[in-house]
Amino acid sequence: MHDEFAKIDWLRSRFELDDGDDAVVLGIGDDAAIFDFGNRPAVVTVDAQVEGTHFRRDLISARDVGKRALTAAVSDVWAMGAMPNACVVALTLPSDLEDSAFRALVDGIAEAARATGAQVIGGNLSGGRLLSITTTVFGTPVGAGVRRDGARPGDAVYVTGVLGAAALGLAVLEAGRGDLEGAEPFIERWRTPPMNGRSARAIATLATAAIDVSDGCLQDLDHLCEASGVGATVEVEALPTMRGHGQLCATLGLDSRKLALAGGEDYELLFTAPPSNEADAVARRIGVVTAERGVRAIDDSGRVVEVDETGFRHFS
Ligand SMILES: [Mg+2]
Repeated sequence: MHDEFAKIDWLRSRFELDDGDDAVVLGIGDDAAIFDFGNRPAVVTVDAQVEGTHFRRDLISARDVGKRALTAAVSDVWAMGAMPNACVVALTLPSDLEDSAFRALVDGIAEAARATGAQVIGGNLSGGRLLSITTTVFGTPVGAGVRRDGARPGDAVYVTGVLGAAALGLAVLEAGRGDLEGAEPFIERWRTPPMNGRSARAIATLATAAIDVSDGCLQDLDHLCEASGVGATVEVEALPTMRGHGQLCATLGLDSRKLALAGGEDYELLFTAPPSNEADAVARRIGVVTAERGVRAIDDSGRVVEVDETGFRHFS
């Protein structure tokens, strides 16, 4: 399948449209796709996953690269309290990428497209030195959608799923310790981001502000607080981690709390909302929004825990 047109023909067959979605009028095959969201606001975002920057080809299968790229892009739509409808995907393919790897990559994209609802309606193929996947996703907000700037003092801070597991999984792989007992779920968690569509739909009607955790819990919470003109206090002991997190960190000599607070690529949804049973059912309550600016983490005795390059420092 060296011919670009053969690849495109195959892609067209791989991304057959779902008849049930009125938003997509025309998919792959013309100069551009046509979609129709009607008379309502739409959400749009673009995300690039680049070999060497976001992944190494020896640490993740081509199929998982595809799944991961599309899911990570959709995560930004979910973080807006919106549902993805369609996406366009630009692939840069190195000449040493085998046909079988190309097919697996596209299979992974197709699998995530089905699972998230972001139908692939177009894209671009290009040659290049490094493999990259650039995904533009279009979606529609549930209700008015959720932005970063609506958090209010007294709101609780919530997060879905677990924190630090993806960063720990990547650390395991980079240390060449994939054989460690209990490591596999963490590696999987890095390779395939969570499917948060259902949580996003719930959050859309609950949250005052939301963001997805890509840079690390504290940093992304700081972005949200900056936009809202507020601060927040996070309780370190309340952070949700995957079973076996502490044990695996100890084995590798890593700071388990630092990974939960600052590990990246969780792709969980971090949001603020008035405390409620409905919000508690969707996510873990990890802190509170304050009028005082700045984001701080405290331990169970109320002492401030500081994250820096070397780990935690305690201040009395
Ligand atoms: Mg984001």
